[in-house]
Formats: sequence, C-alpha cells, structure tokens
Amino acid sequence: HSAGVGSERQSAEQVLQRVFGYDSFRGPQAEIVEQVCSGGDALVLMPTGGGKSLCYQIPALVRDGVGVVISPLIALMQDQVDALRALGVRAGFLNSTQDFEQRRGTEQALLAGELDLLYLAPERLRVPATLELLDRVAGDTGIALFAIDEAHCVSQWGHDFRPDYLSLSQLHERWPQVPRIALTATATRATRAEIAERLDLTQARHFVASFDRPNISYRIVGKDNPRRQLLDLINTEHAGDAGIVYCLSRASVEDTAQFLSQQGIAALPYHAGLGAATRAEHQSRFLREEGLIMVATIAFGMGIDKPDVRFVAHLDLPKSVEGYYQETGRAGRDGLPSTAWMAYGLADVVQQRKLIMNSDGDAQYKRQQAAHLDAMLALCETIQCRRGQLLGYFGESTQGACGNCDTCLIPAESWDGTIAAQKMLSCVYRLHTERRQHFGAGHITDILTGKLTPKIEQFGHQQLSVFGVGADLDANQWRTVIRQLLAQGFLAVESDHGTLGLTESSRQVLFDKREVRLRRDPERRRPTKKAKQA
Ligand code: ADP
Ligand code: ZN
Repeated sequence: HSAGVGSERQSAEQVLQRVFGYDSFRGPQAEIVEQVCSGGDALVLMPTGGGKSLCYQIPALVRDGVGVVISPLIALMQDQVDALRALGVRAGFLNSTQDFEQRRGTEQALLAGELDLLYLAPERLRVPATLELLDRVAGDTGIALFAIDEAHCVSQWGHDFRPDYLSLSQLHERWPQVPRIALTATATRATRAEIAERLDLTQARHFVASFDRPNISYRIVGKDNPRRQLLDLINTEHAGDAGIVYCLSRASVEDTAQFLSQQGIAALPYHAGLGAATRAEHQSRFLREEGLIMVATIAFGMGIDKPDVRFVAHLDLPKSVEGYYQETGRAGRDGLPSTAWMAYGLADVVQQRKLIMNSDGDAQYKRQQAAHLDAMLALCETIQCRRGQLLGYFGESTQGACGNCDTCLIPAESWDGTIAAQKMLSCVYRLHTERRQHFGAGHITDILTGKLTPKIEQFGHQQLSVFGVGADLDANQWRTVIRQLLAQGFLAVESDHGTLGLTESSRQVLFDKREVRLRRDPERRRPTKKAKQA
C-alpha cells in the first residue's frame, strides 16, 4: 500500500507543478494533500493566505471523480471557477445566482464526468434534487472528496454562523466512503472542537498551522479623533497604498469614505445597504486598481484574495478576537510588511456592552458574546506583546517579544490605579446609594474633575463629597481609567443609556483594598506634573 501512497504523493506534486505552477508545497500542505489523497478526513486550520485552497484542489485532481467544495462565498464562485479554468482545471458551480440554463449546463457536465471541481452553496444541499444529483454522480463517475470551506460557519457561537452548515453532517451519513476536508482560518480550541463535533470530524486528522503573521505589525492606539488619526497613519506610512478601513456602522462607513475622498485619498464605501451592483463594482475596483482604500463594514472581505493590502485599520472595536484576527489577516498576504492598526476608546466599550445587552439572544448567548468582548478588550489593554497575546488566544505559545507590535516597539507602562479606581467607584456608589441616581461616564467624569456644568448644578452634584476629588487627572485620563475598569470588570455598563454600575469586583476595590493595575497609553504619556502624580 505504501507504494500507492508514494505514487499518489508524486502525482500530487506533479499536479502542483504542472497545473498550478508552484515548485513545492508550503507548510503543512504536503501532509494534508497526502491525507486526503489516501482517502482520509482532515480538519485544517490555517491562517488567511496560508494556502488552504490547494489542500482540496490537488486531491480533487489526483483522485477519481469530482471534488465537491461547499462554500458560503457565493459572490466569489464565478471568480474562483474562472481562475481554475484559466489553469485548465474543469470547474463549475451551482448556486442561487444562476438561471435554469446555467444550472442545467453545470449539471450535465457533472453527470458526464466532465468536472474536476464543483463549488456548491450550502443551501443547495437543502434541495432534494441536489442530493439526488450527487447520488447519481457518486454511483457513476464518483465523488473525489467533500471540501467544507469556511468551516467555522458551523459554529453557533462564532461570529459567522450559517444555519445551512449544520446540515453538512449529512454528507458523511449519505456518502460515508467519500473523504472530507474542512478548512477554516478562524478557530480557537473551543471552535475547533465544535467544528469537529458538528461535522462529525472527531476521528479526522487535525492540521493546525501557526497563526502567526510575522509581516503584520499590530498597533492599537487610544481613540482621540479617529479620522484624523487614520489620516495621519495613511499620510505618514501608507501614502498610495491599498488598505481596508473597518467601521461598525453604515453611516460611519459613508462618512469616513467621504472624509478620505475630500482629503484627496482614493476611497470607496462598502456595506450591505449599498445594493448588489454597487458593492460588486466597488469590490472589483478594489481588487483591480492600485492604491485604493475600501472603507467597509465587516460585510466586506471574506474570501477576498488581494495580496498587496498594506494596511487594515479599525475605527471601531471588533466584537471578538477571532473577528479582529480574520479582518487584520487580510493585510499582507504577499508576505511584505503591513500594518494592522486600530483606534479604540471608552465609547467603543460602552457601545459594545450595550449591543450585547440589547441583543435578542438568550442568557447563554449574551455570556458568550461578553466573553468574546472581554478577550478583545484584554488584547487592547495588554502591556505585553500584542502578538503573544493574540496567538495565546488561539492556544499557540510564543517565545519572548515579537519586536513588531506597538507594545514591543514602545513599551507601555502600567501604573497603580487603585486610588483612581477607588475614586471612580465610590462616585458611582454614592450616586446609587445616596441619590438613587445612575449616570454615564461623561457626567461622572465631570463630578470627579469638579466641573460645574449646568447638569451638575441641576442635580446639586457639587455637594457630593466626591465632587472634584479626581482633579489630578484630566477628562481624557479619566476616560482611559473608565475604559480599563470596564475592560477589567471593575465597572459595568448597566443600561442601554450607558449608565455605569458596580460589579462584584468593584466591591473588592471599594471595601477590600484590592489593587488595580492600569495601562498608561504611550501616546498619552505626558511629561507634566499632573501625569507624574497620576
Ligand atoms: P487561503 O485560502 O488559506 O487564504 P489561498 O489558498 O488563497 O489561501 O492561497 C494564498 C496564496 O498563496 C495564493 O495566491 C496561492 O496561489 C498561494 N499559494 C498557495 N500555496 C502555494 C505554494 N505551495 N507555493 C506558492 N504559492 C502558494
Ligand atoms: Zn510584540
């Protein structure tokens, strides 16, 4: 049998060279291809740009029959198929964008054994006719393999859940002899286990490539005037470069794209509200033109293969580390130095907490989302190497500082924020217990800094014992303190108005003298007396 495996590997290498024009396999590709060629199942975790496609395309060509690729990326199927056809691979696809004639053409080619690869949208498998079609193919010319792309879409608690993916376990039940390979670029240990469980791949070989992207420089800065900060980044480091700017809302996508255009920078908006034709046009311009900036919601980017994206900027906090990793991973697929930059502030934390609070999910869902957000906040607030923190989240250990992230390049200091935390928390505590009042970060900051605003006077808050006790810090510094207290769970957003409340841990700070360490953002380090006292 080993001779057979050996000759398969050789022919796999021949396919790699003759069809795809590459000299050698990269990283774990060779092993994965061998596993699937010899009929085994595989679960592949590989970062974006790692070369997942060849892991199923080559076995599909080496083995008899058609390789069936399940992919949620309907908008990209035509491009993928065109690219394969240009290499002489007989590829086709079936999805909802086709008319009857196109679909029939693909089906006929499939039944005639004239396809090496078939891309299939997951919802097609809900249609009995598709299952019957695959039955005929399986019994006739054969199915080489099932590839399940973007396999994390099966995870109900992930950020990209597609209900149709749950039904993919039937592939194995219906055609048990066909090998399956599931692939994803996003997975923590927990997600990986969930994918294996739901797709019935616990017996499969798991291939986990390193998620490190050494050419990406990670930076997270305090949000001040985000559009200005973005403009600075572009002008000083990325003039004329292609980049992606992520914003949370459609409105801020529009505003930011307009702002950049007014500054003479070529930028286009992209969000789900734009209409399919506009979106398609903007996407294809981004792919084809040089130095264009796409300002987008997270609706943009999955499956986009543009090698020379030089920077990815986040103007709003992503909901999870998985999302952050996937979005930043779109930078530097060509291996050249690239930047992952993010501006993050107090309002982001409050907003995300409110979104979770107001979401439709049940308590378990909300806890999951809150845990995702906490991990993201920990990455923002760390004074350790960002890369180490990021990879640690995916269960990968690193050695020492990477030298290519902001905390490595300009070490952040931590400071003893216990007294500041006590002042902040006792202000919230007094408002609650003495006045039965609940306020947001802005007003509480005014009380602490002793600012006589009309609202302070209206509520008589200048009479509170905590009024002005925090005048040693300015409003900006207090925002940083509140942001971190929220991130560390010493403070909570308690209503959808963004009012602040206490937690179990805040009691430890207030009554048990628990120590609080805070991060001092490097760019906020000021050589003034005030800052030194803080
Ligand atoms: P992923 O799907 O993991 O994001 P792709 O399969 O799109 O990655 O591959 C990323 C890029 O790397 C593509 O341009 C692809 O052609 C290239 N690539 C993949 N494998 C190899 C290889 N063995 N040698 C050279 N280039 C490769
Ligand atoms: Zn680092």
